[in-house]
Amino acid sequence: MRAIMVVMKAWQAVLGAKVDFLTCYLDRSKDAELENPKKALVKQGKTGDYFIRRFFIAITGLFLATPALAQGVSDEIILHPDVHIVPLAHNVWRHVTYEVIPDGRRIPSNGLIIKTDKGVTLVDTGWKIEHTQMLLDWVKSNLREPVTAGVVSHSHRDRMGGIDVWLRNDIPVYGSFLTADIAKRNGLQPPNRPFVFAARLSEEIELYYPGPGHSIDNIIVWLPKSKILFGGCLIKSADAAILEPVDGSNVVEWSGSVFRLKDERFNAEIVVPGHGEPGTLSLVDHTIRLGSMAKPI
Ligand SMILES: [Zn+2]
Repeated sequence: MRAIMVVMKAWQAVLGAKVDFLTCYLDRSKDAELENPKKALVKQGKTGDYFIRRFFIAITGLFLATPALAQGVSDEIILHPDVHIVPLAHNVWRHVTYEVIPDGRRIPSNGLIIKTDKGVTLVDTGWKIEHTQMLLDWVKSNLREPVTAGVVSHSHRDRMGGIDVWLRNDIPVYGSFLTADIAKRNGLQPPNRPFVFAARLSEEIELYYPGPGHSIDNIIVWLPKSKILFGGCLIKSADAAILEPVDGSNVVEWSGSVFRLKDERFNAEIVVPGHGEPGTLSLVDHTIRLGSMAKPI
């Protein structure tokens, strides 16, 4: 919406200048001004400078709007204050769900919606059942393809809090065998398609276990056609100043695990962290740097 408003304002500025100019020339009731329309414009303070100024305001507005449009800001879909969907690339969307954690902070969490010829794959459920259900309903009514796979990128609540919804809908759920093991020990439903190091869901979706970091079981999702690397909580956003380890994080091995993503096969154009805004491959280096500065806990 912000981008559209800026563009509209810019064009209003251009059109406004044009309309003012014409109105002045067409107002034939003012004889003196009819004789000298230029004088009329000067009388209204609308000299050459006035039009030049408005022209530059308009052009500046258009430039400001361009990056916003490129990022698809205006296309963000808000299903609920806590459930948003943001276009990321052709047939790929980022879902963002929000939850207030015990220390009072409201934390956004990223997941993916990927549409292929063979159906839709969802990466991470969002924080809770209600989020998962809303996302599933949106996919069913908007993408008109069956959901053929779900992926949980590790065993924490922001990744698999709604796994019951997927399983209830007979969606096969992929995740590390470590995730399955932890889920079972915590009395949760485990992913029913566990894998050890890697799994290929299709030509467009690959899953890898790079080693421990944020958690012992964190996996990443690689989309070779879209060149999108979903790093999940293993990867930190650009505004993160520390790794923010949690119970079960492996700070010692975190950097080494992320370093494996520097393999040339992951020639990503977009990298999506578990929390915060997507970026480029610089997020991989950023996380390695944070890991090298971190002290073991
Ligand atoms: Zn986590």
